Amino acid sequence: MELNITCIPGDGIGPEIVAEAKKVLRRVAEVYGHQMRFTDILMGGASIDVHGVPLTEEAIAAARAADAVLMGSIGGDTTTSPWYKLPPEKRPEAGLLGIRKALNLFANLRPAVLYDELAAACPLKEEISRAGFDILIMRELTGGLYFGERRTYEENGLRTAVDTLVYNENEIRRIAVKGFDIARKRRRKVTSVDKANVLDSSRLWRKVVEEVAKDYPDVTLEHMLVDNCAMQLVRDPAQFDVILTENMFGDILSDEASMVTGSIGMLASASLNDTKFGLYEPSHGSAPDIAGKDVANPIATVLSASMMLRYSFDLDREADAVDAAVKQVLRDGYRTGDILSEGCTKVGCSRMGDLLAERIR
Ligand code: NAD
Repeated sequence: MELNITCIPGDGIGPEIVAEAKKVLRRVAEVYGHQMRFTDILMGGASIDVHGVPLTEEAIAAARAADAVLMGSIGGDTTTSPWYKLPPEKRPEAGLLGIRKALNLFANLRPAVLYDELAAACPLKEEISRAGFDILIMRELTGGLYFGERRTYEENGLRTAVDTLVYNENEIRRIAVKGFDIARKRRRKVTSVDKANVLDSSRLWRKVVEEVAKDYPDVTLEHMLVDNCAMQLVRDPAQFDVILTENMFGDILSDEASMVTGSIGMLASASLNDTKFGLYEPSHGSAPDIAGKDVANPIATVLSASMMLRYSFDLDREADAVDAAVKQVLRDGYRTGDILSEGCTKVGCSRMGDLLAERIR
């Protein structure tokens, strides 16, 4: 298969971690007989330095021309970097918002996986973490409260503010379809999270999700109220497979789920549109404090590349090989500094990439 991948190395540790993900992808291409073509584009601070803006039309065109985009991370030290003296629309983060909008990425996927070897980093009680968990949070990214009309005004001498939460059935349907499709690649269970006991938008969400579920009789659907879900994530995370939810609930729940894994350098993410196209990136930032030192953990980016193989290219066998290489490297006792524990061998970013690539079978 021919895979045309645009890479955004970005800022800080971005170029280091993307280089390692490419190393692993090249090995996948070699073992499984694919042709991969990588095109690098500038975004964020790196683009500001060269073009004066965080995202150019040329970069957007290059991203659109690809089958998928693999990103490192963008941004610098927000207190010392000159990028943050620029007006907000010229800062690195504006590039990220711009590309998400230009590519119409409405579905955000964040896996939260507890690896046996890293269970000690999990802040939950041992009797809970022992069961392990492998959750995928699917969050609607372009609607809801964050995009509704808002205003602040004065009424009867009181400062008053209003935000509106709007979803139409098409917006709900397209993310529900993604959620069920992805559940079919996993353990075939969708937990749709809402606040249907209070909100009209949630009642419509629930109805539309139920309509979509009729086309997926092989996938189990359950509904859960968001407050209960927040509790269940720390009480019994093993019960979840795919959590499907709207923008703000997803924002909060995905951070909670990441936190219970305990390892920021291990968290992948993907943002998809209604085709097979997606932008894949680690959940962490550009870590300017450790940039250029060859100490960053590249695993979140490598796992994002695995999601790219699975969701944009339907190469499940190859994605399984990458996930297995990550598990094996942990089992073999190799760790970057952020996940180091007693008795393990400390390695740098580049060596971790080599070890992962060697384990692709
Ligand atoms: P951060 O995630 O970059 O770093 C938080 C802490 O985690 C730091 O101590 C860092 O060293 C560590 N860390 C992060 N990733 C790591 C890795 N792969 N290996 C080892 N350690 C790792 O968050 P921050 O410091 O709040 O933000 C730094 C910059 O990143 C800011 O400019 C911010 O805007 C940007 N940012 C970008 C994205 C993105 O590109 N999607 C996301 C979040 C933050």
